[in-house]
Amino acid sequence: MADCAACGAKLDEGVTRCPQCRANLQRPGSLLQIGGWVLFFMSSIPIVVGVDTAEQRAYAPLAVGIAILVAGVCMILVGRARTTASPETVRPSSPPAGATSA
Ligand SMILES: [Zn+2]
Repeated sequence: MADCAACGAKLDEGVTRCPQCRANLQRPGSLLQIGGWVLFFMSSIPIVVGVDTAEQRAYAPLAVGIAILVAGVCMILVGRARTTASPETVRPSSPPAGATSA
C-alpha cells in the first residue's frame, strides 16, 4: 500500500490518479520508457533479417534495425532522466498507530 504524496490518501494498487485530490500519480517519462523498450525489442526483427541480407550485400534492413535500436535506447534513457527529475507522487504508507508499540 502507498499514500498520495500530495494529500496522504490511501491508494489502491495500480491507480494512476489519486481518488481524493485527483493528482496524477504517473511519473513523467514512464510512457517514454515503455515505448523505448517496445522499440528495443522490435528492432531485433530487422536486425535478424538484416544480418541475413547483409551476406547478400543488402545492408538497408540492418541499418534500419540499428536505427530503431538506437532510438529505443535513447527513449529509455530520456524517460529515465525525466522520471528521476520529477518529484515523488506516492510515498510508502505509514504503519497504523500503535503497531510499533509492542
Ligand atoms: Zn491525493
